Amino acid sequence: MALGGLGEFGMNTMSVSCDDTTILVDAGVMFPGLDQFGVDLVIPDLSHFRTSERRLSCLVLTHGHEDHIGGVPYVWDLLEGPVYGTNLTLGLLRPKLEEHGIDPADRLQRVSPGDTVRVGPLKIEFLRVTHSMPDCAAVAIHSAVGTILHTGDYKIDRTPPDGESMDLDRFAELGEAGVLAMFGDSTNIERQGFTGSERAVLPAFEEIFANTAGKIVVTTFASSLHRLQLLIDLAARFQRKVAFVGRGMKRNTAIAADLGCLRIPFGIEIRDSEVADRPANQVLCLVTGSQGETLAALSRIAVNHHRHVKLEPHDVVVFSARAIPGNQRAIDRLMDHVAHCGATVVHEDDKLIHVSGHGSADDLRLMLSLVRPRYFVPIHGEYRYLARHARVAADVVNSETSVFLMENGDRLCFDADGVWRGETVSTGRVLIDGTRTGEVTDDVLRDRRGLARNGVIVLVVRIDRQAGVLIGEPTVITRGFVGDPLTVAMRDEIRDRVNGVLRSSSPEEHTEQGMIQERIRVEIQRVLRKQTGRCPLVIPVVMEI
Ligand SMILES: [Zn+2]
Ligand SMILES: [Zn+2]
Repeated sequence: MALGGLGEFGMNTMSVSCDDTTILVDAGVMFPGLDQFGVDLVIPDLSHFRTSERRLSCLVLTHGHEDHIGGVPYVWDLLEGPVYGTNLTLGLLRPKLEEHGIDPADRLQRVSPGDTVRVGPLKIEFLRVTHSMPDCAAVAIHSAVGTILHTGDYKIDRTPPDGESMDLDRFAELGEAGVLAMFGDSTNIERQGFTGSERAVLPAFEEIFANTAGKIVVTTFASSLHRLQLLIDLAARFQRKVAFVGRGMKRNTAIAADLGCLRIPFGIEIRDSEVADRPANQVLCLVTGSQGETLAALSRIAVNHHRHVKLEPHDVVVFSARAIPGNQRAIDRLMDHVAHCGATVVHEDDKLIHVSGHGSADDLRLMLSLVRPRYFVPIHGEYRYLARHARVAADVVNSETSVFLMENGDRLCFDADGVWRGETVSTGRVLIDGTRTGEVTDDVLRDRRGLARNGVIVLVVRIDRQAGVLIGEPTVITRGFVGDPLTVAMRDEIRDRVNGVLRSSSPEEHTEQGMIQERIRVEIQRVLRKQTGRCPLVIPVVMEI
């Protein structure tokens, strides 16, 4: 059952059921769109499991990216069994659970690529894949009916920085033995050729390290641990000290270093408070904020508002990350600020300083030709990516493979005789505000959109309860409303309309404060819409005297 990540990028979640056992593969989050005001996270709606008989026997995690583990605290109460993940995956998950006051006790079960665990009638095998961080896995779920292979996120990196190669042999073996269905990552299907190794960025960075007279500041995702490793190694070679700047960067690198997934040579790390004390040409800063996030370290540094790190004219700031769609404007603004400081901006169009962690069309073709599944389902991506992956697959594999396009909520069922589409379950999104305070309902989001587009008007009216007439002038307070302050003519109009409402309502209505308020709200909103074309939120406050 596809629950998230099909028809969208992010919140990757799917479930597999066999007999009485249901397992969840990944529980991801998505970051909100520009019009989802004040929403911090989006997670898939798993209420299906709250109402159905089926309980979740375990959660299987492919790797430690937010779009695969970020939702775990929110599905925790649905889980009855353990969480399986690799060392690094669980290391990144643990502080998230702590933040939510969840004590996992002994339920986090560490596995290594190559391991197999048994859950009810299923045997779950972890296969090593290469991606932008270490310790990533694909999952083969062996059942009596056949093997289901979930690739997780991957690219075929023949020279991974940690020396841990993708287990292509095992994928081929599984293909030889026969794979019933494969669910494959589609993120980069629109790119031609192979994505290439994480090491592809080395020449460009070597050039930057060799030629920069000031500080080198690199911003990337705190989870791009292979990139960070390469940069730390370069710093060692070029006699620069390394400062991790920004909360996420400090946290992730500390976790990864503790687990042995990030090698930081002794004596090379300095605190960000020590950056200013060092000669600029002996410093590398690895900072958060590659997406132009206002509160992240790089944004503060670029407007000279960071406590410790300042930009100087000989410094170079490298944007070593993909711009997530929707963030480009914020990133452009950030680059402008950096340029104002006199520092040099380097981004993807200048030099090869970023390489994706997801396989391009040829990586995906190679995977398909190794596995040659009976059924293939593209996952991870907006619909056009899934559709293209489906076409590519149809070209690669022979006619013995059937390709299915699924969307969130769709179910695919298998038995010894074949495959059919099951009844669709209702899925959706849950919007999380403040990452822990709770869920944002549709009404709240609608109000926020209304406020952002149209502003708000608070109308304070005093009413003579006996006579049912307005006393004095209404007080009109506006915020974010075009035409602010209201013209005198409009204030008069508002007063007349409020009086009109009062005159046309019965004495009983006058004593029903809620009813009067609602009638005033509707009337004033109508007038404003007619006169200004805008529909601000109107909040009447009626005081009876
Ligand atoms: Zn990933
Ligand atoms: Zn992903």
